Amino acid sequence: MDFEYTAEENAFRNEVRDFLKQNLPPKPERGKGFVTSWLEKVREKGWVGFSWPTDYGGSDGGLIEQAILREEMALAKAPPLGTSFMGLAWVGPGIIQYGTDAQKKKFIPDILDSKVTWCTGYSEPNHGSDLASIQCKAVKEGDHYLVNGQKIWTSGAPWADWIILLVRTDFDVDVKHKGITCLLVPMNAPGVEVKPIENMAGDRHFAEVFFTDVKVPVENRLGEEGQGWMVTVSALANERSSIGEVTQMFDKLDTLKDLVRKTKKQGKPASEDPKVRRTLAMFEAKIAAMKYNGLRYLTKQIKGERLTSETSVNKLHRASLEIEMDDFAVELTGQAGLQLAGGDDAVDGGSWAKASLGWPNVVIGGGTPNIQRNIIAERILGQPKD
Ligand SMILES: Cc1cc2nc3c(=O)[nH]c(=O)nc-3n(C[C@H](O)[C@H](O)[C@H](O)COP(=O)(O)OP(=O)(O)OC[C@H]3O[C@@H](n4cnc5c(N)ncnc54)[C@H](O)[C@@H]3O)c2cc1C
Repeated sequence: MDFEYTAEENAFRNEVRDFLKQNLPPKPERGKGFVTSWLEKVREKGWVGFSWPTDYGGSDGGLIEQAILREEMALAKAPPLGTSFMGLAWVGPGIIQYGTDAQKKKFIPDILDSKVTWCTGYSEPNHGSDLASIQCKAVKEGDHYLVNGQKIWTSGAPWADWIILLVRTDFDVDVKHKGITCLLVPMNAPGVEVKPIENMAGDRHFAEVFFTDVKVPVENRLGEEGQGWMVTVSALANERSSIGEVTQMFDKLDTLKDLVRKTKKQGKPASEDPKVRRTLAMFEAKIAAMKYNGLRYLTKQIKGERLTSETSVNKLHRASLEIEMDDFAVELTGQAGLQLAGGDDAVDGGSWAKASLGWPNVVIGGGTPNIQRNIIAERILGQPKD
């Protein structure tokens, strides 16, 4: 691994820094309309979908420059480069890899322009970890598929425009990973019904999604019929690598350090407490480990190889680290730290309380820790099957 940057890469970093100086006001000054103009500006620079092909609106940028871009944006606490989170993180890359030319032209520009939001329809009531056993059924009838079945825990479904949907097109298979197909379905298609589920923090960002005789044109199939598992493995690697992204963790650590600075412990600033200092140092070391592990992924991608099982390592690591950091914040601030927004003594607008209740997002979403451990044991360490 070479940690030195070339002159061109350093020049690119300076370009990003200059842009941020000129276009990113401090948070309190970011008024109404800021996000819209920010999205337009970063799009004009070609920084959304930076490494995607120019033919479909990307910039064909290098992976190291992309990493520099992300790092500088995170250091400056800039807003995301687009609002289509799943579109940018895994649906878009999936369409670029497996989509037809027509699909790329239809879907990619809207993702880059933040015009559409996507949700992900994999899990079913009895098939989460055991995803390959899905039962949501699609039958081909002429130029369309007729879809019937149910998905659950679909994040963003209450407001998404499209869903990347895994269905079973063949029930007569020797291996369950076969006979699965991936479809791209508009959420306003007749027969799609969304029932939001409230999580323990009181949010309704995921939902049950029901499909009753939903007609999906064959042209909306991503990849070949029966190739859905392959499409999903690649999308899941992208999802896990985005969950394992380290920049957000450094940002979270900064916020935690601010909390420590303004909190008193037994009458003294908490920042003077050796145990508190040791804990912060441990978090920093763990995030640094994630960063260097992430650089291994980058090296692999630069060599033209695709990410697969290795993304489970940072996904697993982040899951436990997030819980440790949220619990630490709540413990540090005592009863007040447990209050959600609106509580008389809520700390930082109740954000730590909310985070400590919102852990399933990074822990269970994208696959549970046990499943990541199985993947690491079997596919990376070569241990016998579970
Ligand atoms: C906040 C959140 C957001 C989500 N967003 C989405 C989304 O957008 N789209 C989507 O499709 N899904 C989503 N999910 C669903 C998520 O992917 C599943 O919940 C997850 O894969 C686990 O599946 P399950 O809930 O069926 O639990 P189960 O698979 O029933 O697992 C229950 C327990 O058994 C363990 N277990 C299961 N199998 C094994 C095994 N072979 N070896 C060892 N232990 C095992 C698990 O680790 C877990 O502890 C989301 C979940 C959450 C919590």
